[in-house]
Amino acid sequence: MKCQHCKKQAILKSPRLCEDHFVEYFERKIGKFLDKYKIKNKKLLVAISGGKDSVVVSYVLSKLKEKFNLQIEYFFIRLGIPVFTEKSEEIATKVTESINYPLTIYDLKKEEGFTIMDIKYKPCSYCGMIRRYILNKYAFENDFDYVVLGHNLDDEVFFIFNNMFNKNITQLQRTGPLTQTIKDKKLVGRIKPLYFLTEQEILLYAKLKNLPYVGCACPNSLESTQKKFKKDIEFSRDQKLNIVYSILEMKKYLPEEKVELKFCEKCGFPTTSDTCKFCRTKEKILSTL
Ligand code: SF4
Ligand code: ZN
Ligand code: ZN
Repeated sequence: MKCQHCKKQAILKSPRLCEDHFVEYFERKIGKFLDKYKIKNKKLLVAISGGKDSVVVSYVLSKLKEKFNLQIEYFFIRLGIPVFTEKSEEIATKVTESINYPLTIYDLKKEEGFTIMDIKYKPCSYCGMIRRYILNKYAFENDFDYVVLGHNLDDEVFFIFNNMFNKNITQLQRTGPLTQTIKDKKLVGRIKPLYFLTEQEILLYAKLKNLPYVGCACPNSLESTQKKFKKDIEFSRDQKLNIVYSILEMKKYLPEEKVELKFCEKCGFPTTSDTCKFCRTKEKILSTL
């Protein structure tokens, strides 16, 4: 099987590209994303977890930073999950050192008084919310234009189906490659430069560029619904792209989520109730320690 652009051996079926053309295609796709969503002259907070997605997005953005005049800071949250957190931090440090960038480390225990291991019931359902809260707060207080996340095409397809299986139609409004910053609501926008790239493409890029990433999974993720979904349902790359393009088109016709935001009486960040979910969760965890 030959590359669609040259005579070299193709390393991937779809798109059918050789090593060099694949790397070029991959980086061009992220460049196109930045162009399309006007991510130029911006200050970005990149959340690096040490996983393949965040490592790859960190690396490619460092290559594109001059072209798009980006100011970048890398941010790692020390969750306090034995072995997993240490390994992840080691990778995040190694990657940021190799691209010559400082890494800001946010120690959950030191800053908030607890670790993810202190959550005894379904830690994953709180962990995501906690990370989102911390990233938004830090980005807002330090005047960032966007938080960069490593979500890929497979994650988005899972998000779409999971919400459809659970009849959460209004939640589908939340999918998308970016959200806008709303300064007076203290909300910093989020961008997902890997939104149109599959997990397979990301793994291949990491391998070709010899990028390190955390091999071991978080012990809490072993039985995640997302893992089961990815094992049970298989789509081709084009089918995955068509699913997200269709949903992005359908979003125009979906009802808007009607949420009235106010500010948390404890921390001052946006919430739909008097106290935000982060403050309520934190209080509950601290009371059990
Ligand atoms: Fe957090 Fe769960 Fe992911 Fe572990 S698997 S990092 S606890 S969301
Ligand atoms: Zn080629
Ligand atoms: Zn709060």
